Amino acid sequence: MAIIAFIGLGNMGGPMAGNLVKAGHTVSAFDLVQASKDAAAELGVGIAASAKDAVADAAIVITMLPAGKHVLSVWADILPSVQPGALLIDSSTIDVESARKAHALAEARGCLSLDAPVSGGVGGAKGGTLTFMVGGSDEAFAVGEPILAKMGRRIVHCGSAGNGQAAKICNNMILGISMIGVSEAFVLAEKLGLSHQALYDVASTSSGQCWSLTTYCPVPGPVPTSPANNEYKPGFASALMLKDLKLSQEAAQAAGASTPLGAAAAQLYGLHNAWGEGGADFSAIIHLLRGRTEA
Ligand code: NAD
Repeated sequence: MAIIAFIGLGNMGGPMAGNLVKAGHTVSAFDLVQASKDAAAELGVGIAASAKDAVADAAIVITMLPAGKHVLSVWADILPSVQPGALLIDSSTIDVESARKAHALAEARGCLSLDAPVSGGVGGAKGGTLTFMVGGSDEAFAVGEPILAKMGRRIVHCGSAGNGQAAKICNNMILGISMIGVSEAFVLAEKLGLSHQALYDVASTSSGQCWSLTTYCPVPGPVPTSPANNEYKPGFASALMLKDLKLSQEAAQAAGASTPLGAAAAQLYGLHNAWGEGGADFSAIIHLLRGRTEA
């Protein structure tokens, strides 16, 4: 069993590190926040005095941090203490450019590296059912895949450095756009006197069928497990959707890709956050489209 270092023990990282312990690995971890360290320690995660101490004996180092600037600063800080030949995996959702810079930092130290962002949310992190979208060399993937499999159910090698992040932001751009589309259809149906259930029964078995409709249906009723039935508690917070849509638009601009619906979705989620619903599930965007907060 490997010694694994884990930096960033927040909502996602804490339970992910816990699943590595459950699988029999020794985990040496660090976070800036005491409450996150305490919660992870309860899952059997060993807490080091610093990020540098956490990585010193590790064959594998995993980071789960808020954004690209945190990943680059943590990797620059820890790499001199990481054993050459070790594998670094960043599972945060960050911009493609920072992900590629992080790979270059690891390479300069003689380390392997993967960008491996996830989908599946806090439930997937706790249950060990995340999907990992992975970018990096075949050699790094061969080392990392069995470790990622202890925290997730699907591990997809998307290609070279940065391609895991590329897959993540493309997927979430589809998701943000489709949630707005589904929500607009329900708002129109309300105005036309068509019931939520009738629209659901037709669209869920017709060409309008999609995940935003059949799993995270933005109105209460048709899908009893969707956040709409639980006062729009996340789920996947609107603030995180806005973050991912902004990343998709930065990437589109840098790559010269035309994504007009992605741009519109980023703008609408920006309004939704400014409206005060950033902490609600992203399906609560239907409130903004109605212009009111009740269901
Ligand atoms: P979080 O804010 O709960 O956790 C981030 C942790 O990083 C915090 O505990 C923070 O203290 C720690 N941290 C920040 N800087 C640090 C440093 N220099 N050294 C050590 N620790 C540091 O966020 P989260 O919800 O766990 O998300 C983590 C990443 O996963 C983000 O990039 C997010 O976009 C992505 N993600 C989140 C979800 C979700 O549903 N929460 C789903 C998919 C992807």
